[in-house]
This record gives sequence, C-alpha cells and structure tokens, in this order.
Amino acid sequence: MKVRILATIKELSAQLSNQIAAGEVIERPSSIVKELVENSIDAESTQIDIYVEEAGLRKIIVSDNGQGIHPDEVKLAFERHATSKIYTAHDLFRIHSLGFRGEALPSIASVSKVTLETAIEDMPGKYIRIEGGVVVEERLHGARKGTTTTVESLFYNTPARLKYVRTLQTELANIVDIVNRLSLSHPNIAFRLVNESNQMLRTSGNGDLKQAVAGVYGTDVARKMLAIESENLDFKVSGYVSKPEITRASRNYITLILNGRYIKNYTLQKAIVEGYGSRLMVGRFPIAIIKVETDPLLLDVNVHPSKKEIRISKEAALASLVIEAIQLSMQESTFIPSGIENL
Ligand code: ADP
Ligand code: MG
Repeated sequence: MKVRILATIKELSAQLSNQIAAGEVIERPSSIVKELVENSIDAESTQIDIYVEEAGLRKIIVSDNGQGIHPDEVKLAFERHATSKIYTAHDLFRIHSLGFRGEALPSIASVSKVTLETAIEDMPGKYIRIEGGVVVEERLHGARKGTTTTVESLFYNTPARLKYVRTLQTELANIVDIVNRLSLSHPNIAFRLVNESNQMLRTSGNGDLKQAVAGVYGTDVARKMLAIESENLDFKVSGYVSKPEITRASRNYITLILNGRYIKNYTLQKAIVEGYGSRLMVGRFPIAIIKVETDPLLLDVNVHPSKKEIRISKEAALASLVIEAIQLSMQESTFIPSGIENL
C-alpha cells in the first residue's frame, strides 16, 4: 500500500523571516553602516559618528544627534515592516525619506547582537539589547537626544554569510566608500568615520558641497572641480565635476545623488562621460558629484530592498540635461581663469 505524506504548510517564525530578508538587505558590513547612517539622516541629525572594528565584523557603532525614538516604540522599531516614514500607498509614491520598508533594524538584529540607546527630547531614554532577534534586555536609560546603535558579532549565527565576506581590507574599503557617498549626499551633516584608532573621514557639515568634496577627495581635487548647473521643467541638476585633466581609472569616483539618495544608474553615468566628449582619454573617468532634484512622483524607489537602483521616469531627458550641464561647464571653464573660486 502506498502512503502519501502531505507536506504541512507553516508560517515562518519572525526570526527566520527576518534572516531571509537580511539576505537581501544586509549583504556585508558596509550594508549595516549604510542602513544605520540612513536612519540617522532620516532622523534629521546634524552630526553622525561611525566607529568600526575589524571592518565592522566585530563592531559597528553609529551615533547621531537626531530626533531619537519614543521609548514606547523602541521594540516596535525592530519589528518587520514597522516604520514611521510611510503610512499609506499615497506616501509610497512620494518618498521623501531614505528608508520606508521597515526592514533594516529587524534584519540587522536577526544576524548580530545589537544594542540601541535612544532618547527623544524631554523624555527618558531607552536601552535595548537584542541577540539573534531575541530581546535580552530592555530598560529606561538616561541619554541625550539622539540614537546610538551598536552592532556586534555580525553574521555569528549565519555561517554561510560569514564565509562570503571578503578580506577585512576589502570590507573596510566598502565601508569607507559608502560613508564617502553619504557625506557627499549630505554636506549639511558633519560625518566622522573612525576605524579602530584611525580617522578615515571627517566632514564639516557646514552645507557647502565643495567642502564635503574636500573632506572626501582632498582640497587639491576640490579646488580643481567645476560647478555645474542646469534645469528643465522636471529636473534640476547641480554639483561638481573634475576638470578633464583630473581623471581616474574607474567609474567609482562618480557619485549620483537623486533627491538626497546616493544611487547607481548606468545611463546617467554614461551621460556624464559623454558630457566630456573627446576631452577624456579612453579608459579614464572623471570625479563627479551630481545632484538631481525632482518631484518624487517621477521616481520609483521600490525596485530592490537595498534601494541602490531606482526607476526614473523621463530618464532619457535627464541624461540629456546632464550632458548639457557638463558641456556648459567645460565651455565656461575655458574663459574663466582658474583659482578665482576660494575654498
Ligand atoms: P525604515 O528606515 O525603513 O523605516 P528601519 O528598520 O531602518 O526602517 O527603522 C525602523 C524605524 O525606527 C524607523 O522608521 C524610525 O522611526 C526608527 N529609527 C531607526 N533608527 C533611528 C534613528 N537613528 N533615529 C531615529 N529613529 C530611528
Ligand atoms: Mg531604515
């Protein structure tokens, strides 16, 4: 006689479904730095300090002076799909914040040991410790306004992901890269990145993009950048591009910032290079920080959990505008003697 065994369908536990989500959102230590710093930016911080040990695998601390989390909501912030940034479908199509999926904190907490201390203005602060998705301690805690999140023992309970992590040097380079881009995207925030006892980056947060460029690429490079500016009915393009004599061997020095979000976009990257025309040698690429402002209705941010790639309506028109902005700055630079801009 044949016995039929029926598979039973069961709902995944919260910890397991968070670990699955973490697979997409938390690829490597730098993903945690990105998510935590983006939360600090969304909380309107003016100062964000980042400290890492062993390229973030042993420890990542992100500390901000932002709005903080209400003491009654701290546990909720670690629940999947819990967010203060969107409430309705209407909001989803008009995203003004960097986060909105409510996935980062639960994902991080499911693959590490997290401590979060936070306080909003005029309220007692809160301390919470979560290990592998389980709350092990929660209490009121005196703290200044703002939030400090400490992530330890990353991937301690997901050995496959730990194996996938590259050398500490590569992972640290990824962290430096993401913090560089985030600080270029937000010149009004003072960033500091420290790896063990080495300060890797410091920006002033005085709102001047050129100063942020100096903080990331050095004053020498910043001095040799050309300002760009162009707009049409839908988009406003601004920022800085390097003079054609300052180039790099990779596209990694091109930073695109769309409504305050650092993004990757091949079409726009190509447009930047195209704007230089024959001024660039083959295989050489400029340093560029290009900011685009537009109506959020023209953007679809909800393409991938990491939000690095987004869909842009009228992308071709935007690419033309970028080309035009760069061409214009190149023409002007041949007339204006360099060195008149003070840094
Ligand atoms: P999302 O950013 O998509 O909303 P997260 O899981 O990253 O989801 O964070 C959940 C919520 O926790 C946020 O919506 C926010 O209300 C709160 N939060 C997280 N980090 C901070 C922070 N540094 N300062 C203030 N609030 C924070
Ligand atoms: Mg977030």
